[in-house]
Amino acid sequence: MHGLMMNMPLSISALIRHADRYHGDTEIVSRLVEGGIHRYTYHDAHRRARQLANALASLGVEAPDRIGTLAWNGFRHFEIYYATSGSGAVCHTVNPRLFPEQIVYIINHAQDRYVFFDLTFLKLIEAIAPQCKAVRGWVAMTDRAHMPQGSTLDLLCYEDLINSHSDDYVWPELDENAASSLCYTSGTTGNPKGVLYSHRSTILHAYAACMPDAMQLSARDVVMPVVPMFHANAWSLPYACAMVGCKVVFPGAALDGASVYELFETEKVTMSAGVPTVWLGLLQHTQQNKLGFSTFRRTVIGGSACPPAMIRTFNEVYGIEVLHAWGMTEMSPLGTMCTFKTRHLNLSQEEKYAVMAKQGRPIYGVDMKIVDDAGRELPWDGKAFGDLLVRGPWITAEYLRGEGGSPLREDEHGLKWFPTGDVATIDADGFMQITDRSKDVIKSGGEWISSIDLENTAVAHPEVKEAAVIGVSHPKWDERPLLIVVRKPGAALTREQLLEFFQGKVAKWWMPDDVVFVDELPHTATGKILKTRLREDYKGYRLPGT
Ligand code: ADP
Repeated sequence: MHGLMMNMPLSISALIRHADRYHGDTEIVSRLVEGGIHRYTYHDAHRRARQLANALASLGVEAPDRIGTLAWNGFRHFEIYYATSGSGAVCHTVNPRLFPEQIVYIINHAQDRYVFFDLTFLKLIEAIAPQCKAVRGWVAMTDRAHMPQGSTLDLLCYEDLINSHSDDYVWPELDENAASSLCYTSGTTGNPKGVLYSHRSTILHAYAACMPDAMQLSARDVVMPVVPMFHANAWSLPYACAMVGCKVVFPGAALDGASVYELFETEKVTMSAGVPTVWLGLLQHTQQNKLGFSTFRRTVIGGSACPPAMIRTFNEVYGIEVLHAWGMTEMSPLGTMCTFKTRHLNLSQEEKYAVMAKQGRPIYGVDMKIVDDAGRELPWDGKAFGDLLVRGPWITAEYLRGEGGSPLREDEHGLKWFPTGDVATIDADGFMQITDRSKDVIKSGGEWISSIDLENTAVAHPEVKEAAVIGVSHPKWDERPLLIVVRKPGAALTREQLLEFFQGKVAKWWMPDDVVFVDELPHTATGKILKTRLREDYKGYRLPGT
């Protein structure tokens, strides 16, 4: 017997339609790449998304053509999200910070028909266009007045496209399992792989993202997605914000501390989300200039481990709640968030901080377990660590065009799990803590040392700006930890002082064997420390005493 409820497929177009009907006058504010601030409403965004859908149809775009974007967070990018997915095409956000060869690979692999780009990326587009054979046209996301002169390409102008089409467009009813958007993993090893989301996975994930123990979104929030719309769909915020109908502030290309801070204050932002590296820049700006926040209340931090010292600073200095989150492009991306259960409320402040340093518990929809090398489930005691496996309706089952074969692993009950490549513990309350990425863990004398723990300890030192720990080969122990540190401006911290700081904070045999000071650490296209590069750079590094 079937239930007797309306069978309405879950669809992305319903989000923007809802935001227009029930929150039509709520603002969307964008810092423009061309300079200045743009303001309009969900009503305007919906109207222009329909115009763009007509424009795409006139260009011959059909479902499920892929439409690429190389763009910052802004209102036009937001319109493209809805016009493409809503009309049955696939919105393919390309990370412009990747190497040009990787971008070419991705655009060709996805077979993008058109590519929309912010003016910042004109030179990049001109350089790669000849190698992107499937692309029929390149659309500059600007108005006629700002169109680049003398480009080597015959560019289309975004505003001309919109203006030459009516908003008379009815969103088609699509299969909820149809592909809606596409994002490639940054592929620190091998070629990037395409993660293809569906309308169904996107909507279910957006519901989960809004929940009180997740991002806690409501119509009363003012949300600034600092995490780029090309990084796992800005962690769902372009969808989740439309779902709740809150004001959105898009920071554009200016992600430095001063620019971001200005928007927090002028637009009265209450909530934000981003990777630890961008918050480093913001906190440095506020600390140097002795600034506070008037409306900013909570921020989601994820993408890499949020150092406990950062959680403390946000909390104690600015009264801002940090929601530590963990996920992956393959998970849409949210997996766990760190929010308390009732029994945590009576803990001491120090004990609370220890909980907050964890990546947290699954949001409903995600199931997880840790297993040993033989695939046996490990206990939830907060100590045993093993490979972290996940399953759920917004987790990848397969990469685009079957790249790399099926990633899933079947367990003894016939259930399929996605191996995250992360190594973690789970405690009795179900709180997960990443000890490392499996490829970053340091294997010393048959035991494992967590590079994240050592990095967290290092950045807790007031004179350390950023730190990375890698394993370098050791004749006796196989690998030993090397600590690579960027000092804060003006700091004169020495190797000995820093190692002294580690005393009593980590097990003796976890102590880094050496410290190297550098001016800068290499980062991946999504803002993580690029450990593969560091491992190459320090291959053959002679540790003291070897
Ligand atoms: P890529 O590996 O291509 O950069 P993602 O951005 O999807 O792709 O990265 C996912 C990985 O980032 C996770 O598997 C995990 O190793 C790491 N990560 C994400 N959030 C956290 C976090 N809060 N703490 C520690 N690691 C994290």
